Amino acid sequence: MNQQPFTSRRAPIYQDIPDEKWNDWRWQLSNRLNSVEDFENVLKLTDSERKALNSQGLFRVDITPYFASLINPDDPNDPIRRQVIPTAGEISPFTGMMEDSLAEDRHSPVPGLVHRYPDRVLMLVTTQCASYCRYCTRSRIVGDPSATFTRKEFDQQIEYLKKTPQVRDVLLSGGDPLTMAPRLLEELLTRLREIPHIEIVRIGSRVPVFMPMRVTDELCDMLQKFHPLWLNIHVNHPNEITAELAQACDKLSRAGVPLGNQSVLLAGINDCVHVQRKLVQDLVRMRVRPYYLYQCDLVEGAGHFRTPVAKGIEIIEGLRGHTSGFAVPTFVVDAPGGGGKIPLGPNYLVSMSDHKIVLRNYEGYITTYEEPIQYQPHDPKTCSFCQEKRVEAGQSGVFGLLDSEDMFIKPEGFDDLHNRGGGAHRLRADENKWKPLGIGSGEE
Ligand SMILES: *Cc1c(COP(=O)(O)O)cnc(C)c1O
Repeated sequence: MNQQPFTSRRAPIYQDIPDEKWNDWRWQLSNRLNSVEDFENVLKLTDSERKALNSQGLFRVDITPYFASLINPDDPNDPIRRQVIPTAGEISPFTGMMEDSLAEDRHSPVPGLVHRYPDRVLMLVTTQCASYCRYCTRSRIVGDPSATFTRKEFDQQIEYLKKTPQVRDVLLSGGDPLTMAPRLLEELLTRLREIPHIEIVRIGSRVPVFMPMRVTDELCDMLQKFHPLWLNIHVNHPNEITAELAQACDKLSRAGVPLGNQSVLLAGINDCVHVQRKLVQDLVRMRVRPYYLYQCDLVEGAGHFRTPVAKGIEIIEGLRGHTSGFAVPTFVVDAPGGGGKIPLGPNYLVSMSDHKIVLRNYEGYITTYEEPIQYQPHDPKTCSFCQEKRVEAGQSGVFGLLDSEDMFIKPEGFDDLHNRGGGAHRLRADENKWKPLGIGSGEE
């Protein structure tokens, strides 16, 4: 092994903390930085940061000593600092800002459950995190120590899942599920595993990034009792990748937990193809597969982090083909009003006719591709998978979920071949509601 090792850092004020304390996640949680005085011990606050920290009604601030140590104290624009220390930008409103921009509350059958897609649900299990991201998409519910989910709400969530057989995938989020009391998390996983139709459970957590010492052998032993269990971490910048994070990821991988990463595209932090390329390459070195790159949501206090959508597309363009295919995340915009995640990317299809397709590759090189003349499509009538009665049909969701038959509106005289792009099915935002839009209806 002669590649660059991942490094480890501790701010000067923590140099004398004994290792047993530093490596104890409970110590990290109880020694988080949240006041002007705390921060002045590790860096010099800017006027903008000081103004934000002294303002009323600020979204909760709390940073583990471990994560704060990764900040370069001499750089006011340090990419880690900008993610966790508030600035005056946070207290200015912007156009398009929304309280619950993803309309999650509207898609909650019971408190804390968001059922937007046919076969999977998002389950918010806690309002607490190890540290708080300034662009938090759930800042409306996260951070308040007095407002966590009650036992009764938790029972209601489990009841809903028990009587909803189309749910085969439960995504635990919050807040951060890995900040829960270990016994409570284990109880939750046990109760989910008792529901036969739940095939997979996934956890979304930034704990390995904020506090890698939480990923203990005991935690991994506990988690691996609940396989198939997947976990997505949240790393936005290569500076967050340390020896400690790499070790935490290694432990989780050895416990059989497949790891993914979700990043948020943030102005001045990671809106750069070179930063993103280094990030995804370092992630795959830790066996973490980049999953999503999110457009920043329209949340209060996050206006100064927003980038044009074109920036995300440009980044994907600079990754695809240029580096390992499995290192390229999907760039998604979570549609305001509850439309769900919409993938966006560069277009490689230049034109398409009956039998010829014109394509370009990642270098801009143009090529043509001949379609088959004789295509014998798969026959749904003899296919047992097609015949199987799908529970998903007619189930709720924003679109009033469409049967697969209705997914593509077929104009007369067109055969199946022409519809595979799905372009005929269009949606229109109408007063924050989403509905299918027929082609040529003149409603555009
Ligand atoms: C993101 C999300 C999911 C999971 O979506 P995948 O694309 O399957 O990762 C599920 N429910 C809600 C409400 C979500 O926002």
